[in-house]
Amino acid sequence: MASLAEPGLTLTRLPHPAPLPAAQREALIADPGFGKVFTDHMVSIDWSEEKGWHRAVIGARQPIALDPAAAVLHYAQEIFEGLKAYRLNDGTMALFRPEENARRFNDSARRLAMPELPEDVFVDAVTQLALTDADWFPKVDGGSLYLRPFMFASEAFLGVRPAKRYKFLVIASPAGNYFKSGAPAVSIWVSRDYTRAAPGGTGAAKCGGNYAASLVPQAEAIERGHDQVVFLDAAEHRWIEELGGMNLFFVFDDGSIVTPPLSGTILPGITRNSLMTLAQESGLTIREERYGIDQWKADAESGRLVETFACGTAAVVTPVGKVASHDGEFTIGSGGPGQLTSKLREQLVAIQRGTGEDRHGWVKRL
Ligand code: PMP
Repeated sequence: MASLAEPGLTLTRLPHPAPLPAAQREALIADPGFGKVFTDHMVSIDWSEEKGWHRAVIGARQPIALDPAAAVLHYAQEIFEGLKAYRLNDGTMALFRPEENARRFNDSARRLAMPELPEDVFVDAVTQLALTDADWFPKVDGGSLYLRPFMFASEAFLGVRPAKRYKFLVIASPAGNYFKSGAPAVSIWVSRDYTRAAPGGTGAAKCGGNYAASLVPQAEAIERGHDQVVFLDAAEHRWIEELGGMNLFFVFDDGSIVTPPLSGTILPGITRNSLMTLAQESGLTIREERYGIDQWKADAESGRLVETFACGTAAVVTPVGKVASHDGEFTIGSGGPGQLTSKLREQLVAIQRGTGEDRHGWVKRL
């Protein structure tokens, strides 16, 4: 496989003409929030039909010139990933399973008729950017450097067909502690009017269009006083799929766990996969099977369902406390974080912080 070190795809380092002065940087990273502050550098690699991947550069983060006819602006050929550089307890920066993001990026690329990027190029690109902008790592407890690799069609052409030119970029954004004091239970709204993805569609790909389609139902959830929207399947409006940006797990009173299957309409979360492994290793039974919205309510009310949690890179594991829809509301367990939710969260966070045993080599030290 090609790597950034191979001839033709060398990551050329361009000097930054004016990095932000240290005092200003320190002020920004003292309380960065999420997705608002960006580091000095970016990675950029171009693809064309004639040359394949070329012009691999790490240099100043700056605006990109796009022709108004660039295909991405018209037909949304765009995919992305999201991963965090963490600080381990010994101070080293680390990534969590970045090769899984690389693999999923290529799965998304294939679905959107875009060129695949060699996995080691992807991992090298995020690694180099994290190391180059290590000074931007937020000093807040639980902070991270969020890395956003993405690719879009840059060819100026208005015909509907796969573009012949693309840009792959990586930018980085210091992020504060997602939840300053542990993970509070979230309240979620069941979207009955809108669906996120249909069978045969792009639900399993991490493409911008999926998120555009989730904005109205997410706004509806917020308007009604809830934190997140939960999507049901597009065919029967009955089976629970996922939240706008997190996968779901259901815990029963016999200790068994259910999570919706990867049927092509939900995103195969890396946190989901990691938690399934951890739970199975603790001897828990996890079933990937469909779970209906009416059953969820009945089980919560009867006490058979004791916990529900959502998971994803941003918040790791988040308990779901309350569920609301046009038919009324129900509470899960005590409405707060359940035992298993807290245990799995602690186990995963410990691995990510370097204090728990990393049996699978998930942590990549930088
Ligand atoms: N579902 C959706 C729709 C998402 O955007 C995300 C975040 N990437 C997830 C699930 C969780 O995936 P991961 O655990 O890989 O962050």
